Amino acid sequence: MYAFHLPLRLITRASFSNYTVRADGFLSTLNQVKHTAPLLSSLEALWMAYYKWMDNDVLATGILSFVIHQLLYFGRALPWYIIDHLPYFNKWKIQDQKLPSAQDLRDCVTYVLFTHFTVEVAQIWLFHPLCEHFGLRISPPFPKWQEMLPQLAIFFIMEDTFHYFAHRLLHYGPFYKYIHKRHHRFSAPFGLAAEYAHPIEVIVLGLGTVGSPILYTAITGNLHLVTVYAWIALRLFQAIDAHSGYDFPWSLNKFIPFWSGAEHHDYHHQNSNNCYSTSFRWWDYICGTDKKYRAHRQLQAIKKLTNKAE
Ligand SMILES: [Zn+2]
Ligand SMILES: [Zn+2]
Repeated sequence: MYAFHLPLRLITRASFSNYTVRADGFLSTLNQVKHTAPLLSSLEALWMAYYKWMDNDVLATGILSFVIHQLLYFGRALPWYIIDHLPYFNKWKIQDQKLPSAQDLRDCVTYVLFTHFTVEVAQIWLFHPLCEHFGLRISPPFPKWQEMLPQLAIFFIMEDTFHYFAHRLLHYGPFYKYIHKRHHRFSAPFGLAAEYAHPIEVIVLGLGTVGSPILYTAITGNLHLVTVYAWIALRLFQAIDAHSGYDFPWSLNKFIPFWSGAEHHDYHHQNSNNCYSTSFRWWDYICGTDKKYRAHRQLQAIKKLTNKAE
């Protein structure tokens, strides 16, 4: 049993300004929050109760970030693992029948978990102090989707730009040999291989994902942690899908022509050159690092047409 005060910033939509709550468990804390801040939505009340119950914001954000990351990463990779085992989907596999072996999958999961529990745990633990330093909002109310959408679009553009140039640097001599080569172990990638990378690469490229919202907050002073989680979820989905090895007629790049998708990144793994970007195709186009890729795809299309005509 412990007592604490709800800080003013957490009860912006409540009808009081200073209230003492006694709680001895999560449900009890949640009930107190609902009672004292009735205008909060269920999710906002859950969020607020979690932070009050944890009573340690750094630990609360650290654990929440870690759990969300694990659930999203393995949760999103699972459908691709299932698709790999369904022959119906083979016709959309970019590199014919090249599927990961059981050993590949074991090696990949072991190494990804190793980086999650070492490098990323440290990064995640630093996250809350960084957010506080730059003034990121953590308490309810959550931002509206109209506020989140443009911010998410800006993060995609910022991360893609950073990733393109950092990724090109990782292909330079010793950087490739000692760091980035690990990510290129799988020349025919699969969903789970998205974060199969050397710890230094995880830190360097992670800067683009975490650094973009931090820089945005430093400049604008307006960002909520929930938007950062939404961004990380979308970025994870983008990375896993880009490594899936499948290009469907309903893939996003069929509707948004400048979206990279698996069709673009798969070529990068197959040839270790060209197509360095993550989400968008424009940097490769502007810098001319997609010429071989486009020539290759053109040749494939001509071959397909010729085979049909015969
Ligand atoms: Zn990759
Ligand atoms: Zn690469």
